[in-house]
Amino acid sequence: MRIRVGHLYPDYLNIYADRGNIAVLDRRAAWRGHELEVTAVGMGDSVDPAAHDLLYVGGGQDREQALVAHDIAIKGDALREAAAAGVAMLAVCGGYQLLGRFYRDRSGAELPGAGVLPLETHAGDRRMIGDVLLECELELGERRTLAGFENHAGRTLLDDGAEALGRLISGFGNDGSSGFEGCRVGRVVGTYLHGPLLPRNPWLADWVLAQAIAHQAGEAPVFEPLGDELEAQAHSVAAARAKARGGRA
Ligand code: GLN
Repeated sequence: MRIRVGHLYPDYLNIYADRGNIAVLDRRAAWRGHELEVTAVGMGDSVDPAAHDLLYVGGGQDREQALVAHDIAIKGDALREAAAAGVAMLAVCGGYQLLGRFYRDRSGAELPGAGVLPLETHAGDRRMIGDVLLECELELGERRTLAGFENHAGRTLLDDGAEALGRLISGFGNDGSSGFEGCRVGRVVGTYLHGPLLPRNPWLADWVLAQAIAHQAGEAPVFEPLGDELEAQAHSVAAARAKARGGRA
């Protein structure tokens, strides 16, 4: 299958090698006989809600977020329509913040977001930096851990009743106090985890790919497991670093 991926603002929102997540999706799709077709969706580009199976957006400093915020807000209707139609989305850090209602940055400026995720973010004085480990249950009964790296000033507040991506084992996560990280609405996942995220968490890469295929084919495939020895090592090294950090926050 040709999996249609829209990469939002690849030239503005791409720190900590976040674009590496696309490379992982591309390889893991190819190893299963699928082809990833990646299209850049940038400033001034319109979003056709029916043109993509997966939308991806990486992280960025306040300066880059300030440059793209008004443009992603204009894309808000189309992005919300895409999410409602079952398009999968993966958003990292600054991109995650801009999928919410707004990000109030360190200068106090309120940067509008796309309003896809039920959350808002306010920058604090102290940056939240370090290795993170969380436990997720994206599929009922399937508990998995996610390991990555966070570096953000933003404190993200989920609306009441909103679903977090996971429960923190170690790290600051959304706001340094709630004990949760990220947000998930159906096939849309937002997280603070850089690294890049997917090389050390191949199960999430496969989950995202399966959701993208489900958008096109109606049903999520069950992939044959790949060896993933190196990925498992990378995960356990990152998880050990996060645990060594000791508890939450
Ligand atoms: N600029 C945002 C913050 O500081 C996001 C940072 C990032 O993407 N790493 O919170």
